[in-house]
Formats: sequence, structure tokens, C-alpha cells
Amino acid sequence: QGEPNAHEHGFDRIFGLETEYGVSVTGADHAVQAANAAVAMFRPIVEHTRSTNTYLANGSRLYLDVGAHPEYATAEARMPSDALLADAAGERIMRSMALNAQEQLRDAVGSAARIHLFKNNADSAGHSFGCHENYLVRRFVGLTDITDQLLPLLISRQIITGAGRFADGRFSITQRALFVDETVSSATTRSRPMVNTRDEPHANPEEFRRLHVIIGDSNRSQWATRMKLAITHLVLCVIEYHARHQESSALSLMALADPVDANHAVDEHGVQAQLQLASGDHVSALQMQRRYWQACATFLDAHAHAVDASLGQPGAALQILDEWRVVLDELERDDIASLATRVDWAAKLHLFSQLVARRLGCDVDQARALLRQPGALPPALALQLAQLDFDYHDIANGAVFDALVRHGRMIEEVSAQQADEARHTPPAGTRAVLRGRFVQLAAEAHVRHACDWTTLELLEPHKTTVSLLDPFEDQPDAQLSAIFDQLEARIALHETR
Ligand code: ATP
Ligand code: MG
Ligand code: MG
Repeated sequence: QGEPNAHEHGFDRIFGLETEYGVSVTGADHAVQAANAAVAMFRPIVEHTRSTNTYLANGSRLYLDVGAHPEYATAEARMPSDALLADAAGERIMRSMALNAQEQLRDAVGSAARIHLFKNNADSAGHSFGCHENYLVRRFVGLTDITDQLLPLLISRQIITGAGRFADGRFSITQRALFVDETVSSATTRSRPMVNTRDEPHANPEEFRRLHVIIGDSNRSQWATRMKLAITHLVLCVIEYHARHQESSALSLMALADPVDANHAVDEHGVQAQLQLASGDHVSALQMQRRYWQACATFLDAHAHAVDASLGQPGAALQILDEWRVVLDELERDDIASLATRVDWAAKLHLFSQLVARRLGCDVDQARALLRQPGALPPALALQLAQLDFDYHDIANGAVFDALVRHGRMIEEVSAQQADEARHTPPAGTRAVLRGRFVQLAAEAHVRHACDWTTLELLEPHKTTVSLLDPFEDQPDAQLSAIFDQLEARIALHETR
């Protein structure tokens, strides 16, 4: 059984999404620290597993570090849509944990207490927390390829994937751009890079890297969650192809003079932001996206089959390209009402500008201009918008986003029922299937166990470790089959007792 090699796997990708959530408590008889609410959320898990770091039967990881940011990292997924489903399952899991903790909390601090769980990236005190995208890429892709060819995509794509934020008296396109201060670095505590290069591939290191993208916003829009992975996948295919063939690529011309500046410009000016290239030329964020789109379209003329194979469906690559073009056309037309059905910042801008227009008796265009101008709105109105902004991200007690979905103003790709099923079902075609089955059986058999991304461990009756280095492997080897049999036998024994 040889290691898979890059060639056999074509453009196959592993996707993973990590989401850190923000917590706050309102309505309590006395102030409750966010960290205490987070601990309350994890209490049932600690009782079961004696840890705040655990892997679930759907193969994902649930985690509470010190502080108050519960994290859910999806299992490895082969398709952007599978990663979306796994992420939506994470929302449901976190929501249940928060509502359960809220019940407990109400006994202590009053029946009006509410736990707010924010799927966003900045709190009101100006702390930032992340949504990390993970992509398996071939090792022959160099770090300069990432800086020159990928960063301009990640920066300009925020006109599509930015979650929007009204804070400090003005509206901006992203949650996170203001907090990102470096391009490519291995540090995350001192600095906040766009791409983290800490070398932890969770796969054969000779063959693969795990690209760890930390520039992006958390999305409530399911379309945006799927599309940010899908678009990035297409561009990574182009980058990989040229790196494998050691050819120069049209994407090298995208290199930016100052990526951090460019990122701030997109945050502030959106589609119109002027980005300076390393060559000295200027292009708008929209033009930059069009250039990437064109490069992918040209690439797919020759390689659509191979890319479709990575997505498991004929026509899948062109489908992504098409959805991408449609949204770029809407951006060019400044068609906020259409964008609002699937672009988070546009959904907010649409809502907020209508509210401002009504309150101030101006038209919607004027309202939009005021939203973008720092300090232009009356303080009480600004405060209300900032609160609505938080509410949009509150997956436990928020009203705004759910109302938009209910009224058909924001499209939903995964129903609550599908997301609930995915709480127990791992993404298909990856080692997550094995991890999920292992966790499920070990829990039912009451056998102490532990996991990380590349290993499964039984801790009793004696320690046994199984290595899962290949993320594409979803079939158990002889050792793991034997463990599954052993656990099933134990469960049967429990049941007959
Ligand atoms: P931190 O929280 O400190 O950023 P981290 O990013 O190293 O830690 P996790 O939070 O554990 O790690 O999340 C890892 C993510 O990477 C998961 O979403 C997982 O599905 C994904 N992943 C696991 N193996 C691979 C792989 N070989 N290639 C790409 N992604 C992977
Ligand atoms: Mg993480
Ligand atoms: Mg991470």
C-alpha cells in the first residue's frame, strides 16, 4: 500500500474551516464574564471527556482554549459544499451548547439572562478572532508563489466574502482587515498574518503543505462560505499546475506592492479600491477579481476535466466559474439588492441603509454614503446599527439573520435539518469517516480514547495508536478494522447485560 502521490491525486484537495466564536451575556442580574459563559458551554463536554479539546462523531474538533472563544474546526472535507455542511453543523452544535448553558445560567443569574454567541471576528472592545481556511496543497508550491499569486486573490476576494462591519461610527466591507498586519508569517500571537506558514501539514510532509489562510472573515452566508473555498480552490489548481511544471504563470503579474495596505483599501473602499501592483500599475479590487476569473477560465479551457474530478462532478468547475462571474457582474453594477441575497456585507449595507433612510428621511443612496463616512450618523443611530451588526452574527439569540432567511432575502444552501444530520455524519471520502466511526464506537463502548488529526488512540485496556497520515483514506486498514470489531463486541456485550 504505497503513499498516494501528487500525480495520482490530480487536483484533489482537502478543505477544513476553523471558526472561533465570540461570547457575551446580557440580561443577567449581575455581570457575567464571557469566559464563565464559555466554560458553562463546555461543562457537559468536560464531564464526558475530561477535556475541553475533543473530537466529535462527525470527525470535527471542538475546542476551548483559555479565554472566551469556543472553536469548532470542521473535519477534512473533499468538496467546498461538504466543508460548508460541516461548518453549518458546527453552528448548530455551538448553538445547542449555548442555549443549554443559558438554561443553567438562568438558575444563577436570573431568567432574563441570554448568551450571545457571535460568528464574527471582532468584539466591541476591538479584539479580533479568526476564521481559518485550510487547504491541502502540494509541497512543490513555494511560499513566494503564495505571496505573489495567492495573496492578491485573498485580498480582492473580500468584495465577495467580506462579512461587513458597522463599528466606530462607520461601515466597512470586512470584519478583520484592520487587524491584519503582515503577509506571510509563522507567528500568530505577536502578529496577524494573512497566511500562517507554521509547517503542520497533518499529512505526509514530503508531499503536502497545509495552507493555513487566516485573512478571512467568518461568513453567515452559506453561499459565501462555500464560494470562498471554491474560488480559492480554482486558483490553487492554477498555481499548482504551473508550479508542478515549473512554468511561470500569468498569476505572477498579480503581485501587490503592499498587501497590507491593499487589504485596508478593500476594507474601506470595496469594489472601487485602488490596488497598487508590484509593477507600479494600479487596478481596482474588481478588476483584480476579473483578472483571476479570466486566468481560471483560460486554465479550465484545457483542464476542466481534471478539476471536475477533484470536485467529484462533471461541470462543477465551470459552475463555480459561472457563479463567480455573476457575482462580479452584480458588483460592477453596484446591485446591492441582488448581492444581499448571498454577500454578507451587502446584506448588512442593504438593511442598514434602508433603516438610516427611514430614520433620517433621506434616500437610500444618501444613507449609504452616510454609512461609509466616519461619524456622519447621529450617535444613537450609530449605536443601534452597531448592535444590529452584532445581532446579525449571533447564532444563539440573534434575530436579524434568521429573519432575512425566513423572508427569502438571504439564500440558504443547507437546511437546519441537513445541518443537524451533519452533527453526526463526517464528510465523505476522507479519514474523517474513520475518525468519526472511531469516536462514535469508543464513546458507545465507554472506552477512553483520544484523537488528533493524524492519530486515533485507545487509552485502555492498554494504549493503542493508529496513524492516519493520508487524509484521502476513508477505508480502515487491518489494525483499525480489528479495533472497530473489538469496540463493536464490547458494545454488544454492554447491550446483552
Ligand atoms: P490553531 O487553532 O492554533 O490555528 P490549527 O489551525 O493548527 O490550530 P485546528 O484548529 O486543529 O488546527 O484545525 C485544523 C484544520 O485543518 C481542521 O479544519 C482540519 O479539518 C483541517 N485539516 C486537517 N488535516 C488537513 C490537511 N492535511 N490539509 C488541509 N487541512 C487539514
Ligand atoms: Mg484552530
Ligand atoms: Mg488555525
